[in-house]
Amino acid sequence: MRSLITASLITACLGSLTQAADTDAPTLVGVAVVDITPDYPIRLNGYGGRKTESEGVSSRLKARALAIGESPVVLVSVDNCGVPVRISDEVAARLKSKSSLPRERLAVCSTHTHCAPCLSNGIPFIFGAPLPNDQQAHVERYTRELTDALEKVAAEALANRKPSRLAWARGKVAFATNRRMLKDGKWTGFGANPNGPVDHSLPVLRINDPDGKLRAVLVGYACHCTTLTGEFNQISAEWAGYAADEIEQKHPGAVALMIIGCGADADPQPRRTLEATQAHGKSISQETERLIGGTMTPLPGAIAAKYQTIELPFAMPPTREQLVERSQKPGAEGYFARTMVERLDRGESLQRTLTYPIQTWSFGDALGMVFLGGEVVVDYALRLQRECDADRLWVVAYSNDVPCYIASKRVIAEGGYETDGSMIYYGRPNHFEPAVEDLIVDTVHNLLPTPFNKR
Ligand SMILES: [Zn+2]
Repeated sequence: MRSLITASLITACLGSLTQAADTDAPTLVGVAVVDITPDYPIRLNGYGGRKTESEGVSSRLKARALAIGESPVVLVSVDNCGVPVRISDEVAARLKSKSSLPRERLAVCSTHTHCAPCLSNGIPFIFGAPLPNDQQAHVERYTRELTDALEKVAAEALANRKPSRLAWARGKVAFATNRRMLKDGKWTGFGANPNGPVDHSLPVLRINDPDGKLRAVLVGYACHCTTLTGEFNQISAEWAGYAADEIEQKHPGAVALMIIGCGADADPQPRRTLEATQAHGKSISQETERLIGGTMTPLPGAIAAKYQTIELPFAMPPTREQLVERSQKPGAEGYFARTMVERLDRGESLQRTLTYPIQTWSFGDALGMVFLGGEVVVDYALRLQRECDADRLWVVAYSNDVPCYIASKRVIAEGGYETDGSMIYYGRPNHFEPAVEDLIVDTVHNLLPTPFNKR
């Protein structure tokens, strides 16, 4: 944490930033939770190897919302592999029309559990074939129900705002492990790479009522929600759900929201068992308990929000001839290539850029939150921590859209799953140009107010 002396010096240097002085005043905060577990079998997202609908419920799925401030921001945490921008924007449009909430003041963050339902158009090629009609009907139904549930949970949080106090701190949890195995600087496969970069920080925002009773916690961790693997075909909120449920059980009436950082190239270790999943959840909840019971930095409730989309360039798309050749391959790649050939035959071109959402929320000059779309690799968090004031920065991924992996210059040069292989599942024509890293980082610098930036 930044020392008091340094903080007051910075406040003195930046006289216009007076919100920091208001941190003693209570802030209006609302919380809500809605169960989003389907009561019917449905195809689960994240692993292409599953061939049937889900076989029961191992742990329940929730959508949780936090509404902060008199001019509120609303953060929704969703137990899903990836809520696409089409749904986030639909929820945002409904909240704008009914509650006058501007788009930049809503963040929809997916926990990326790989044991939650598919949504329509999400990761369209992962199963290597279209879903049978009856299974697709369940997916369409759940997509409608989830959209309504996200609107409901956000509206409830907005409606029950009460005076509260905000504070935050950062801890550490160590189960996230870099999963990219390398040889001579090139990707060779998945594994546990103890030498690869990770972000083990655990930022926690605490919301207490004026009497000091816990109302909510927002907890971030940068790791895939993939303890359970493809042979597990039951609905589960994974370690993120166990962490949230355990915190809520210890604090009856409180709501715990889990959000995911730049952990796209990190897997939890160990993996594969329900016991390991619960143990990861417990390590998050224990560290959260330690932090919320200790000294935290108070935050003001007046939050400045910005939201911008930028175009991220893909490398040159494959030619029709290359796609025809690839269309003979089995599984997802063949299905993807056949679909792209059909697209060309209809006279349509292949996608050249991705429209990418970047959002920032600033709590005075005390904390800058950055919400990035997609499966963002750790390099983005580490670079932003270097180029900004790491003690006042919280980077969140899987936010507002999960359109594909967002590789860095380094990961693009190394190649492999997060660069190339995964793009097929998401229906993207090629890997990104290395320039996307600077485009994203420059946009974050432009959106964040000056005190957070070292540039
Ligand atoms: Zn993923």
